[in-house]
Amino acid sequence: MRSQADSPPEPFLIFGSPLIEQAEIDEVIACMRSGWLGTGPRVAQFERDFAAYQNLSPARVAAVNSCTAALHVSMVASGLEPGSEVITTPLTFCASVNAIIHAGLAPVLADIDPVTQNIAPAAIEAAITPRTRAVLPVHFAGRPCEMDAIMAIARKHDLLVIEDCAHAIETEYHGRKAGTFGDFGCFSFYATKNVVTGEGGMIVGRDEASIARAKVLALHGMSKDAWHRFGDKGYKHYQVIEAGFKYNMMDLQAAIGIHQLARVEQNWRRREAIWKRYMQAFAGLPIGLPAAPAADTRHAYHLFTVLIDEERCGISRDAFLDTMNTQRIGTGVHYLSVPEHPYYQQSYGWMPEQWPNAMRVGRQTVSLPLSPKLSDVEVERVISALQQTLSTARS
Ligand SMILES: *Cc1c(COP(=O)(O)O)cnc(C)c1O
Repeated sequence: MRSQADSPPEPFLIFGSPLIEQAEIDEVIACMRSGWLGTGPRVAQFERDFAAYQNLSPARVAAVNSCTAALHVSMVASGLEPGSEVITTPLTFCASVNAIIHAGLAPVLADIDPVTQNIAPAAIEAAITPRTRAVLPVHFAGRPCEMDAIMAIARKHDLLVIEDCAHAIETEYHGRKAGTFGDFGCFSFYATKNVVTGEGGMIVGRDEASIARAKVLALHGMSKDAWHRFGDKGYKHYQVIEAGFKYNMMDLQAAIGIHQLARVEQNWRRREAIWKRYMQAFAGLPIGLPAAPAADTRHAYHLFTVLIDEERCGISRDAFLDTMNTQRIGTGVHYLSVPEHPYYQQSYGWMPEQWPNAMRVGRQTVSLPLSPKLSDVEVERVISALQQTLSTARS
C-alpha cells in the first residue's frame, strides 16, 4: 500500500519490498490451472527471456532455485580439485563463501577497495598461492567489479572466474553485461532482488557445454528433465550420469519472473531516480555516500548504502538503525564482513581485522529502502527520517 503523509500512524516501510503487479498474479494463477507446477514451459520461456535480456543464446543459461544453488553448481561443474583455493570478497552475503565450502573448495578472502566497496584487484593478486584456482568477484550493490584487471589476473594465473551477480542483473562494464566475463555468472531472484521470483536463480555459462553440465548437476545428475520425459512425445528413460542436486526452478516461480523481467528496465529507471534524489538530499550530511558510477559502466542500483561513522555522525551505526526503525523505516545491513561471523572464525581462524576495509564498511554501512515500489512521499519520508536521526544525534 502507498502511504499518505497525513494518515497517522504511518505504515512501517518494509525494506526491500518487491513490486508485484497483476500480470505476475494472473500468470501464477494460469500456471496453477495448467496443472504444470514444476520445471516446464514457463521455466523454458523465462530462460529464453533472460538470455535475450543478456544478449546470449538460450543454450548458455540455466534457471535454478537460488543464486546459492547457481554458485554451488557452477563451482562443482568447474571440476576443481578438492581443496583448491577460491578468492572472494569479505563484503558479501554468506552464500558466496558457503557455496565455495560446499563445493569442497577452500575460501580465501581479499579485501575491498574502500571507495567502490568491490574486491580490490591488487588484493586478489596478493592472495594468490600455488593452490589458487578461481576468483569469485561479487558486483556489490550492482556496481561492476574492475573486470579488466580481474580478467587479466585470471589469465596470468590460469584461474577460473565465477561472478556473483546477485545484485547485478542490469550491470554493465565497458559495454558488456556482468556475468558474461567469467566462466559462470550467477544471478538471484530472491524477494528483495531487482527481478523477483520469490526464490530463484540463473546460471550463465561461458559456453553451451558448461551450461549443459550445470543443468544436469542441477537436476539430480539426470540426463533428461521431467518436461521432456512426461511431455506428449512418449515416455523417455532418463539416465543418472552424476550425483547431482535438486536445484531446478519451478514454473510457478518462472511465472512471476517472466513479468518481473519484462519490467526490469522500468524498475531500474525508478531506482535510479530514487538514488539520485537520495544523493542530492544527503549531499551536505556527515555520512558516507556511494561512489558515483565509473565511466563506461552501468550500475544496477540494487542497494543504496550510507556509512555512519560514529565520530562524524554522533551516533553509532546500530543506534542509527534503531532510530530509523522507531521512525518506521526499515533498513538493511549489507554486510557485516564475513569474518565477523563465528563459524568462519572457528573454522578458518579468520578475524575481521585481517580485512580492515571490509570490516570498517561492514560496521558502518546502512542500506536505505530502494524498491521501485516506493512512492515519492515514501522516499521523502526516508530522507526526513535520516535527517531527523542525524540532527537529534548531533544536538
Ligand atoms: C542474495 C545473494 C546471494 C544468494 O542469493 P539466493 O538467491 O538467495 O540464494 C548470493 N550472493 C549475494 C551477494 C547476494 O546478495
